[in-house]
Amino acid sequence: MSHQTSGNELDALLNKMKSAVSPVRGILRELHEKFLPTLDGKVADYIPELAKADPRWFGISIVTRHGQFVEVGDFRQMFTIQSISKPFVFGLALEDHGRDDVMRRVGVEPTGEAFNAIVLDESSNRPFNPMVNSGAIATADLIKGRDFPERVSRMIAMFGRYCGRQVHLDNTVFMSERLTGHRNRAIGHLMLNFGMVGERIEDSLELYFQQCSIQVNCHDLAVMGATLANGGVNPITGERAIEARYVKDLLSVMLTCGMYDYAGEWAYRVGIPAKSGVGGGIVAVLPGVAGIGIFSPALDPKGNSVRGLKVCEELSTRFGLHAFESTPGAESLLAELQPSSR
Ligand code: GLU
Repeated sequence: MSHQTSGNELDALLNKMKSAVSPVRGILRELHEKFLPTLDGKVADYIPELAKADPRWFGISIVTRHGQFVEVGDFRQMFTIQSISKPFVFGLALEDHGRDDVMRRVGVEPTGEAFNAIVLDESSNRPFNPMVNSGAIATADLIKGRDFPERVSRMIAMFGRYCGRQVHLDNTVFMSERLTGHRNRAIGHLMLNFGMVGERIEDSLELYFQQCSIQVNCHDLAVMGATLANGGVNPITGERAIEARYVKDLLSVMLTCGMYDYAGEWAYRVGIPAKSGVGGGIVAVLPGVAGIGIFSPALDPKGNSVRGLKVCEELSTRFGLHAFESTPGAESLLAELQPSSR
């Protein structure tokens, strides 16, 4: 095969890929342009490091379960994962203990309470679900390891499998989280009082502060979402991040409890399993299809990224992505993103 021919073949393939990806890229560009001027909301400021975020940052990334991706805007900008870590650590706890044992420590009921409420289910003393701080701390307490360093490295390694790269903490955010985390400590000790967590609660809180401080970008979030969309296997590295049987556990709690006190309305209007964090990220999962990562740090009063909500709402409507859509559109999104080389 001459150099000329292989060059032409490559061009033809690239063109085919471009034409397949461009309608979705076009829509992402359009949404990015449309919502870029939206300056509503406020960046989180409960610790000074988060207040330094630039409210103009805005990135969107979609990664399919075949590993194709389209992304626009500030998709490389790093930020801390914060509460988006919660469903993934819940997954590790499920792998470590199984469904029944985990359910003894944390429920799956949505709560109308704030994410950091100091409240447990009165009849069972369990935290309501793994997406609120109490449930996430109880979940972090379940992560196994011979000692604390091993528990932390298992948690970090798990995020590395989802992202397809080694992940790192933002040390300044971590130090501030632990310096100011009195409310989370109070929650931890209340659960210790009720026997919902063990004596190693201080270590578990430390692990929780660390998981919140992991640095990701919007591309990472989309790959993490795509991994769940792909039955637990990272579509880019081919590495399994979580046992297939637990993927639905994560997606269910994301759908019912993932978006703070907006979770019910989110399920109603958008209908896509998702989790947001106060760093400004949102991960959303179209099962069997793709992961979506959005980053825009200005938050609404409930703690969700203002632009992130708008993008998801519009994507859901335009493509018919709601889980209970009578004419589902998610497959057509996958078809559009697939290189048409066959
Ligand atoms: N580190 C935060 C806390 O525990 C997480 C907040 C969030 O993203 O919801 O308060």
